[in-house]
Amino acid sequence: MRKLFTAQCGSYQDDSLKELIDIYFESEKDRLASASKILIKPNLLSATPPDRAVTTHPDFVRAVISSLKHFTKAELILGDSPGANFGKYEKVLDVTGIGRVAEEEGVGIVRVESYEPVQKDGFMFSSLADEVDIIINLPKLKTHSLTGLTLSVKNLFGLVPGTAKVGFHRKYPSDTELGAKIYQYFTLLGDKTLHIMDGIIAHEGDGPSRGTPIQLGIAAACSDAVGLDIAVTRMIGLKDSFCLTTAEALRTGYDASWLDVPETNVSLIKIPMSRKVRVPLFMKKFVAEQVYVKPVVLKEPCIKCMLCKKSCPVDAISVVDSYPFIDKNKCIECFCCHEVCESDAVGLQRSWLHKIMVRS
Ligand code: SF4
Ligand code: SF4
Repeated sequence: MRKLFTAQCGSYQDDSLKELIDIYFESEKDRLASASKILIKPNLLSATPPDRAVTTHPDFVRAVISSLKHFTKAELILGDSPGANFGKYEKVLDVTGIGRVAEEEGVGIVRVESYEPVQKDGFMFSSLADEVDIIINLPKLKTHSLTGLTLSVKNLFGLVPGTAKVGFHRKYPSDTELGAKIYQYFTLLGDKTLHIMDGIIAHEGDGPSRGTPIQLGIAAACSDAVGLDIAVTRMIGLKDSFCLTTAEALRTGYDASWLDVPETNVSLIKIPMSRKVRVPLFMKKFVAEQVYVKPVVLKEPCIKCMLCKKSCPVDAISVVDSYPFIDKNKCIECFCCHEVCESDAVGLQRSWLHKIMVRS
């Protein structure tokens, strides 16, 4: 039976956070005890310090790991793919403080891109999702300029490898369509996900990264991602469909009548400017098409081993003048070639707008 767990927490050290996580894991103890490999999936969007509330707070991640160890003997790994900040994973882990927590807690750090990409119903996944028995999803409660909010469903979109996520934005520039596609992607993950949301210090305004932190004191957990997203949306005083991934779930028949959401005294969060001012679709499309990162072969360090060619899931790499050559039109931006090259000969070429929008 689905159950929603919530807590009001004054800080990440609050006992109520620990109690919430313990009670939630207790309710899932059989699944956790029988798992042999568990992925912890925080929000690692960018290399920003915890007080900016762009990423899941490291103390929240630590509290989850500490509790989890009481319920399972499974191998614990932690990973994400930081979207447009692909290529700066070590820096992201360092600045967010999450790399240190994983290290201190003995949890292995993985890169989503190190696992082979697999296609499912037209969506590209990292096979990392198939390799684990359970994914513990730790979203940050944030506003999102495109999808309204980024919550449990949206956070799992981080399992799309490389900047293929950005490719999604190019393909579906309409907010509603993007929300719908992300929800469809989520449904393909099956029922191996558990969700604990960090809304203790949330992110409001022009999220997911250009807004401001807000102390909301909300932590919540549920094994039904859509139910959790709706509950949290109500707790911050917004309509269920404000989050466009939820809107698609409701449009396709999700029944939220089982939810019993507690009243909160949190103040309304500031919504993104994009939800107040409608930007014409053609402009969104233009911008989306100009934001990209593409792999490029650097001839000088290349030793012509062709590992990159072998790793490409869509045969976008051919051999020209004995060097690998990447067909940018075929490339789906999974960055497997970048991952496998041991000679640092696959560079990342950023578009002009990417350089402006994603600061190094
Ligand atoms: S894997 Fe690297 S070194 Fe090998 S052919 Fe490709 S680019 Fe060159
Ligand atoms: S060239 Fe192939 S392996 Fe490299 S990023 Fe593009 S699709 Fe992926």
